Amino acid sequence: MVFAIDGPAGAGKSSVARAVAAELGFTYLDSGAMYRCVALAALEAGVDVDDGAALGPLAAALEIELDGRHVMLGARDVSTPIRGREVTAAASHVSVHPQVREAMVARQRQLIAAGDYVAEGRDIGTVVAPQAELKIFLTAEAAERARRRAAELGADAATVLAEQTMRDERDSAREHSPLRPAPGAVTLDTSGLDVEQVVERIAALAGASL
Ligand code: C5P
Repeated sequence: MVFAIDGPAGAGKSSVARAVAAELGFTYLDSGAMYRCVALAALEAGVDVDDGAALGPLAAALEIELDGRHVMLGARDVSTPIRGREVTAAASHVSVHPQVREAMVARQRQLIAAGDYVAEGRDIGTVVAPQAELKIFLTAEAAERARRRAAELGADAATVLAEQTMRDERDSAREHSPLRPAPGAVTLDTSGLDVEQVVERIAALAGASL
């Protein structure tokens, strides 16, 4: 069984999906972490983040392991380095390429097929698991999303907002798997709500579809 949570950067997907998974006894899948791994590997290997032909084989060869807490790239724990600013920006470049998406989507489908998952990202309900029992499109006002992110990172809200706007535009305007609500998705605007309130709403919807 799979519950899909998609939405723009900073909507609270990670905290919410993690908490919903814990509540239901499901496994949490952070698909964005996989694109971040591709970005990190590309930056380290000196591969151009706009070169889809070169990124495809690189992405397909990566050994990415996610256990819901740590992200491993081969034998290395990359949980922290993949959250850096440079990798964050690069992730939204590498994820534009169909060669990269194909490799990641195949891995995500394999994982999901083997258990019960709460999976979050940009294309879980539209592409990775359109058969999901419940699809949520989580969003919030851009300024609030940036404020939350800035508080988390200890960064300046205006800078975070500018970078977030560029990421949102790239994620929404791209040709392959652009960010949009899946057919049948329930849209939840989390502006003014805390994580617990959102989790409660989703757990109630999930309970109804179990
Ligand atoms: O969710 P997170 O912000 O960690 O994702 C990093 C980047 O990976 C996003 O900006 C987006 O470009 C890409 N991504 C994607 N499809 C997903 C998850 C993330 O394209 N399912």
